[in-house]
Amino acid sequence: MPTVVKTKSQQNKSVTPMMAQYLAIKEGYPDSLLFYRMGDFYELFFKDAEIASAALDIALTKRGKHDGLDIPMCGVPVHSADGYLQRLIRKGHRVAVAEQTESPAEAKKRGHKSVVARDVVRLVTPGTITEDNLLDARSHNFLASVARVGKDHALAWADMSTGEFFYSTVAELDIQTELARLMPGEILLSDKWLDDAQLGPVFEDWDKELTPLPSVRFDSQNGERRLKALFKVSALDAFGHFNRAELAACGALVDYVELTQKGKFPHIKAPLKQASTDVMSIDGATRRNLELTRTMNGERQGSLLWVIDRTITGAGARRLGADLSSPLTRPDDIYYRLEMTDYFVRDNARREALRTILRRCPDMERALSRLSLGRGGPRDMAAVRDGLAETANLRATLSQLDIDTERRGIDAAAEQLGFHADLVDELTRALSADLPLLARDGGFIAKGYRLDLDELKALRDESRRHIANLQANYAAKANVPSLKVKHNNVLGYFIEVTPRFADNMGDDFIHRQTMANAIRYTTVELGELEDKISRAAERALALEMELYDSLNQTILAHASKILSAAEAMASLDVAASHAELAVEKNYSRPLIDDSLKFDIEGGRHPVVEAALEAGNEGKFIANDCSLSDDHRLWLLTGPNMAGKSTFLRQNALIAVLAQIGAYVPAEKTHIGVVDRLFSRVGAADDLARGRSTFMVEMVETAAILNQAGERALVILDEIGRGTATFDGLSIAWATVENLHDINKCRGLFATHYHELTALSAKLPALSNHCMLVREWKGDVIFLHEVGQGSADRSYGIQVAKLAGLPKAVVKRAESVLSHLEEKDQNSATTRLANDLPLFAAVVEEVSQPASSNGPSDVEEKLKEISIDDLSPREAQTLLYELKGLLPPE
Ligand code: ATP
Repeated sequence: MPTVVKTKSQQNKSVTPMMAQYLAIKEGYPDSLLFYRMGDFYELFFKDAEIASAALDIALTKRGKHDGLDIPMCGVPVHSADGYLQRLIRKGHRVAVAEQTESPAEAKKRGHKSVVARDVVRLVTPGTITEDNLLDARSHNFLASVARVGKDHALAWADMSTGEFFYSTVAELDIQTELARLMPGEILLSDKWLDDAQLGPVFEDWDKELTPLPSVRFDSQNGERRLKALFKVSALDAFGHFNRAELAACGALVDYVELTQKGKFPHIKAPLKQASTDVMSIDGATRRNLELTRTMNGERQGSLLWVIDRTITGAGARRLGADLSSPLTRPDDIYYRLEMTDYFVRDNARREALRTILRRCPDMERALSRLSLGRGGPRDMAAVRDGLAETANLRATLSQLDIDTERRGIDAAAEQLGFHADLVDELTRALSADLPLLARDGGFIAKGYRLDLDELKALRDESRRHIANLQANYAAKANVPSLKVKHNNVLGYFIEVTPRFADNMGDDFIHRQTMANAIRYTTVELGELEDKISRAAERALALEMELYDSLNQTILAHASKILSAAEAMASLDVAASHAELAVEKNYSRPLIDDSLKFDIEGGRHPVVEAALEAGNEGKFIANDCSLSDDHRLWLLTGPNMAGKSTFLRQNALIAVLAQIGAYVPAEKTHIGVVDRLFSRVGAADDLARGRSTFMVEMVETAAILNQAGERALVILDEIGRGTATFDGLSIAWATVENLHDINKCRGLFATHYHELTALSAKLPALSNHCMLVREWKGDVIFLHEVGQGSADRSYGIQVAKLAGLPKAVVKRAESVLSHLEEKDQNSATTRLANDLPLFAAVVEEVSQPASSNGPSDVEEKLKEISIDDLSPREAQTLLYELKGLLPPE
């Protein structure tokens, strides 16, 4: 209902009618910035103005007074509002857009002083945006909702810009992992949860995305009603079995979409249940650590996704991102996707043909979403037309005779593309070649589509031509060659001459305006023609708008078929992208089954390999990894910089790639499905959350030891290094034992605690491996090869030397190390299986400070010497003396 209301605030006598209306609207949206439409601007007032002017860096002005104080104000032009909206949304604000819902003329009819009625037509929030320029074309933007009923927790998520809608039940412990997988733009949850001691911390990382709602919005009965109403069904059985928590989560989400879109609803597909066991569980820390879709700095560039993405379309890129975030766990499902990849690997020509067609396919999903929300335009209709037009070509490309290929997925996609000739034909006939962005600009209906429209346009254009001819007639009649017929928005059409020709203008010319350099006239004839033009133009536009609405309805009636076609295109794009990458980078098809194997021959790290290639820094050295059967845990030692972390991660990434249905950077791969993936690096401060390096490390290690089962793959990189040596070594020791005896998972454990290698004597499924290096003239050369056995040392000092540590410090470190090693030999590493080692005893001996930057004893002594006064004998004695001053070797 448009606001023509009287409120508390209006009773305040100092308030103008307009401000009273503003305050009434604002009362309904206390948590949003209110964009209040005034002519060509959206204006913001009071606190909103202060926030927006600071966030957008625009001028803060004032307008009138309220309660005796100036009213702060700022504004943004309507035509460029999208850019400002984008910046506000990115900064975590929500915006309520209030439009004028009647014309000033209509307002006047209600009374001389009536304010034009306004109403909020839309709430713009991070999870509900649909405009292309507010969204990243290549990523999903999910709106998520989390609900709890009794002991059950459920999650629902939808991408309003594409219509996808999912739900699932999650264990409380997994909520964080699921959110890390989906990376929603906005999360709805009950405001009660924020203070919940157990659940509150789960959402700590999502402060900017959280939208707390009153808990009544998460009512399961209400949710059920909402879903039934939305999908116009009397029972939800056709969509699967919903528990109460799932109904609550889905219902709250649907409710919120309706609330923000003010009753308009995007085309949303029926909700699809996603069992959490169908996808590999990867928690937030592992995702960050493995840099799956973003690097640790939050950039797409440099992530695994960035390296493997060869998709052409926005929908394909979004699908690939979603796939990579959710690797599959059922061998059959994986096989199905691998078959599709394989199909395009085998046939380069067909792959290229498909990709050429995809290059012509616009983003139908997002165009359709805008059309269904009444936010689309003629160009969105053209996008649907052009995308659908290509379905026939795509099918033709896939339908040629194949020999010896498995093509379940290809056939399914070809069928899913569907047949759309009628709609394509209708839209082709209806839309003209050059299309305006907005329907209200008119001119988008093609000639020949509707005769009555063509007639109106002809009338309009003919009158325009008449007017053009008038200029020559009037110039001759008044004998003013420079006479012009012009147009502006205030006067409409007029005749213009310079003042010195005023006397030439006879009675037929009716004076309209005198300017410094020009006098303007009209004529009865010109007025009539203008009238004709404007009436014809008005009627033409009204007719075009009618046709627009009817075309829109026709398109929306085909919405499911259009989305199906878009989905098929996305899956073909992704399969062809995997194939393109495989051929380009020499990846191979993995074998995935139900076993507990993990055998990788000649594996490579996709991102490090790409970086080495790009920087021309040499070839990546491939390495094998076999965690099968009796050696499921590998303990990896080796110097700093030798490639331990790279090796660890490459094996995790190969498992992820294999389980999304992609080819992998290896010669041969056999993996028994991994259901949970964990990757941790010791020492990564999380100061923002008030946790020290060591605390983070331990919290994360605890999560692994509590959750990893025998199907898990665990990658631990230098766990235990964030504390004192003894404590760290002891924790690492006990962790390895636990992984071996209790978790029984497959795992790789990289460490500098060489003492741990003694554990292999005790733990049968643990084997020792090391990064090979060669020493040459005191320097170390990294071979990046993984060998059997354990490394004898860490070469930390050599690496420090390479890094440019001051020479004196390097020298001193070498001397300290030699002391420590001497003592270490006495304590015999092999005894460590029973006891813990080294260090403390020798600390005292080597506690002499490293030579500082000041002169050494030798240098001091040398300074005292006067060489010319020395006899050969004295010189020799002095040399002995100097040698005695040197620090021990
Ligand atoms: P640290 O113990 O200091 O963390 P690290 O042993 O984990 O070191 P990485 O960070 O994995 O070493 O690797 C160091 C660098 O070595 C990489 O950035 C990469 O440039 C190079 N590198 C690693 N593995 C290989 C390989 N297999 N082939 C070629 N270069 C490699």
